[in-house]
Amino acid sequence: MNKVVLITGAGRGIGASTAALAASQGYAVAVNYLGNYQAASDVVSAIVAAGGKALAIQADVSRKEEVARLFDQASEQLGPVTHLVNNAGVPGKIGRVEDLDPAVLLKTFEVNMFAAVYCSQQFIKRCSTKYGAAGGAIVNVSSMASRTGSPNELVHYAAAKAALETFNYGLASEVATEGIRVNAVSCGLFETDIHAEAGDASRLQRYATRMPMQRAGRPEEAAQAIMWLLSPAASYITGATLPVAGGR
Ligand code: NAP
Repeated sequence: MNKVVLITGAGRGIGASTAALAASQGYAVAVNYLGNYQAASDVVSAIVAAGGKALAIQADVSRKEEVARLFDQASEQLGPVTHLVNNAGVPGKIGRVEDLDPAVLLKTFEVNMFAAVYCSQQFIKRCSTKYGAAGGAIVNVSSMASRTGSPNELVHYAAAKAALETFNYGLASEVATEGIRVNAVSCGLFETDIHAEAGDASRLQRYATRMPMQRAGRPEEAAQAIMWLLSPAASYITGATLPVAGGR
C-alpha cells in the first residue's frame, strides 16, 4: 500500500523532523505550513533531493474549511492520505491567567485542539473501514504541560493540550474497530522556535537542566517516537499517550 502521511505544521521544529524521517521510511509526505513558505519548501526540497516524495501545502488547520482543502490537495497530488500527525501548535504568550487575552486563549485552543478534531474528521471519513477504506493511524502531538499545568507561564496552553489528550483517548476508543489507531506523544522540552514564540527564548536553557536527563530533546527524537506509533510495530497500541520528555 502507498503510505501517505499528512503532517500539520511540518515546516519547522518537530513537524519538519517528522517529515524528514517519514520520507526516509518510504512515506509520501504532505508538509502543511501556515505562513513560513520558505521553511516548508526547504523541507520538501531536502526530501526530494534524497529521492523521496513530498509536497508543501499552505493551510490554517484551525479553519475547518481549509482542512478539507488541505486533505483534498494532499490526496490529489500524493495519493489517498493513510496517516496523520496532528503536530501544529502555538503556545500563546507567557503570562499569568488574570492577564490572559481572550483572543490568545481562543487561538491557543483552536490550533492545539480544534485543529486536531477537524483533521481527524477528514481522516476518519477517508480512512475508516466504516466508509469502505483500509484504515490508518493518527498521532497527536501533546505536551507534558498537560500534567504540570505550566503555572505562571502557559496555563491556557497546558489546558488545551489536556483537552487534546482526552480527545486522543476518546477518539481512539470510538474508531478502535474501524482500522484506525490513535495515539499521542507528550513532549517535554524540545529545541525549537516555540519558546521564542511564547516570548522567552531563554526558557529552553532555564528548564533544560531541570529535566532528569538534564538536557532538552532534539526534534528528531520526538520524530522517532511519532513514527514508531504510526508504524505497524505499534499495531496493538491505541489511545496511549507516550511521554517523550527525558524522564519527566
Ligand atoms: P514550532 O517550531 O514553533 O513550529 C510550529 C509549526 O506549526 C510551524 O511549522 C507553523 O507553521 C505551524 N503552525 C502554527 N499554527 C498553524 C496553523 N494554524 N495551521 C498550520 N500550521 C500551523 O513548534 P514545535 O516546537 O516544533 O511544536 C510542534 C508541536 O510540539 C506543537 O504541537 C507543540 O505544542 C508541541 N510541543 C513542543 C514542545 C517544545 O518544547 N518544542 C514541547 C511540548 C510540545 P509556519 O512554519 O508556517 O509558521
